[in-house]
Amino acid sequence: MPKSIQDLTDIVCAFADERGWANNDPNQLISSILIELGELAEHYQWKSRFPEFDKQKKLEVGYEFVDILFYLLQLAAKSGIDIEAAFDSKLPKLHAKFPVGQTDEEFERTKEEYRRTGKNKLYS
Ligand SMILES: [Mg+2]
Repeated sequence: MPKSIQDLTDIVCAFADERGWANNDPNQLISSILIELGELAEHYQWKSRFPEFDKQKKLEVGYEFVDILFYLLQLAAKSGIDIEAAFDSKLPKLHAKFPVGQTDEEFERTKEEYRRTGKNKLYS
């Protein structure tokens, strides 16, 4: 059954609430994201290409993605961040900043402009 980001957020927050974990502070959540990211990274460490995971490994790696998502969605929800709204707002700006067919020169000019001015077009 397809679930939206809001559906997943509701599930994750209810799961935490039911277990008395809803009072995790931001530092605990950020630390947990980084720890889980490290666990995910172990599956890719020293690999220069995407590995062809077997069925069991796909399950293990998938669970690490879920672990990260669990903490990330809680952090966003407790911070009052609506990820779906942020995504919808940011995507058109990313399209404008990195248009399809952009040459390497144009891409470098955009990066240089940001380096020089400190102005990120995404927020203007
Ligand atoms: Mg994990």
